[in-house]
Amino acid sequence: MARPIRAELSASALRYNYRLAKSLAPNSKVFAVVKANAYGHGLAFAQKALDEADGYATLELDSAIKLRALGVETPILMLEGFFGEDELPVFVQQRLTAVLHSTTQVGQLAQADLTRPLDTFIKINTGMNRLGLADVGIRYALGMCLGKNFGATTLMSHFACADSGAGMAEQLSEFMHWEKIARQTLAPKPLMASLANSAALLRYPETHRDWVRPGIMLYGSSPFEDRTAAMLDLKPVMTLRSEIIAVQTLEAGQAVGYGATFRARKRMRIGVVACGYADGYPRHAPGTVDEGTPVLVNGKRTRTVGRVSMDMLTVDLTEMSFANPGSPVTLWGEGLPIDEVARAAGTISYELMCALGRRVPVVEID
Ligand SMILES: *Cc1c(COP(=O)(O)O)cnc(C)c1O
Repeated sequence: MARPIRAELSASALRYNYRLAKSLAPNSKVFAVVKANAYGHGLAFAQKALDEADGYATLELDSAIKLRALGVETPILMLEGFFGEDELPVFVQQRLTAVLHSTTQVGQLAQADLTRPLDTFIKINTGMNRLGLADVGIRYALGMCLGKNFGATTLMSHFACADSGAGMAEQLSEFMHWEKIARQTLAPKPLMASLANSAALLRYPETHRDWVRPGIMLYGSSPFEDRTAAMLDLKPVMTLRSEIIAVQTLEAGQAVGYGATFRARKRMRIGVVACGYADGYPRHAPGTVDEGTPVLVNGKRTRTVGRVSMDMLTVDLTEMSFANPGSPVTLWGEGLPIDEVARAAGTISYELMCALGRRVPVVEID
């Protein structure tokens, strides 16, 4: 018997969520966003489940190379472009599509000696103020797009608040302002557009355009505070499971775990679960007297108590006389939305998925 923790992955859920994204943006092509090791799910697993995707978006060069080695022929969008001109021959050789977010990148591409042009996504800053070109930078990039080394051109931006809707209209109208200028500058060369992440795809059809870029929704999590994954008909792809490996009885006044942060007010039964922060469970998940983090034991809901340690966490089994060592535990996924666990722990599902511990065995269940 091995340590009982495992992450179960459902390829059918991933495919289902992709098809939902596709059906919600029927006139757009879909880049399945697989950066950060497919949000912690594993790049090869995600690519296989999403082999019908119109393209993939990532930002690590090694993962793009791996996608090509897996047989991917469709476009691969590099969300931050190249990090230095030395990467340009690899971009050409691997037929990668480069986001250009800075005038430095535009200049490097214009001056490179390449055997083939690169398709580019000109990323403009419409209000997020993270990456993207502005004003003269945009005009400079658009002018260059007519020159050698520049293949098909797509104008691109990213929303800061597509989940809440704040500032969407302003960002979209700024985008459309530049889109008009870009069309005039490039004509008769065609111009495509790409804006939508999961939240925009789900809530703002006017942002869909030529290419949408969903990430989190593919993995079955909701980008919204006010709508659950189930309400959006998204299915969880990753279920983190383990088991109870020991049971303790606390008398009133006794504490459990590091720092003795949880002290029983009455006699309690405590289950020790083989899952800790080294497995990717958030250490800051609350387990105080007033506040716990939801956990399923034998499919029934209880909560964490005490601090999460590296290899274990503890749960309240006082009302669960049926639970014993060997009882199955769900940390998130099927039956317990990852969004709920993330919210309780003061974070977002993205962070939990990406932080899945390397030591956790992964099992593909379908
Ligand atoms: C990560 C990323 C996405 C996907 O965002 P989700 O919120 O996961 O859908 C889309 N576009 C860009 C530029 C990104 O970096």
